[in-house]
Amino acid sequence: MDPRPLTKLDRCDACSAQAHVRLITDDGGEWLFCNHHDNQHRSALWLKYPGLFVDDQSEASV
Ligand SMILES: [Zn+2]
Repeated sequence: MDPRPLTKLDRCDACSAQAHVRLITDDGGEWLFCNHHDNQHRSALWLKYPGLFVDDQSEASV
């Protein structure tokens, strides 16, 4: 897996804000979230996908 950096062109899947977090599920699904929706959805996705890969780039983007 070679995650590319998120850019301002990457948009949250739940709203149209800039995405700062990429979540990759066990089955290869990819979610992009802003900080707000990451907080809202990450724990639920973790329950569903124990091997969830979290690429949190919110620090670098501030
Ligand atoms: Zn969002």
